[in-house]
Amino acid sequence: MESQAKNNPYYSRTDKTELKISNDEWKTILSPDLYAVAREAATERAFTGKYNEFDELGEYFCAVCGNHLFRSTSKFSSSCGWPSFFEADKEGVYYKRDLAYGMDRVEVLCKRCDSHLGHVFDDGPKPTGLRYCMNSVSLEFVPDGEM
Ligand SMILES: [Zn+2]
Repeated sequence: MESQAKNNPYYSRTDKTELKISNDEWKTILSPDLYAVAREAATERAFTGKYNEFDELGEYFCAVCGNHLFRSTSKFSSSCGWPSFFEADKEGVYYKRDLAYGMDRVEVLCKRCDSHLGHVFDDGPKPTGLRYCMNSVSLEFVPDGEM
């Protein structure tokens, strides 16, 4: 199984301790693509991410630290070009108002490592009406049965 855990001493799917790691250090650990999204809030190009069109059953974890973020049953197919979910693990994420680029959006971040994951919008499907618009590079999928 491909995993971000390689060469990443902070990666854990069980340790919930909050991480306070400097970007200088993350830069030596993460791939350039993941660093740009997770630590500099870049956005991957639409329709390019590995989980955009993907509907296997399993769990999604933070690619930076291994924190649990989403269950595949909350994923839905959206035309926006990024993997979309209607519900996040409440223990996994937190929110921040994002006024960058002249827009008023809600940023979604990992509760454990403080990495940028994407944004949440209120035009999603039932039951929550939310659309978590995520970057594939920030997610690591583990299929059911491999946990
Ligand atoms: Zn994380």
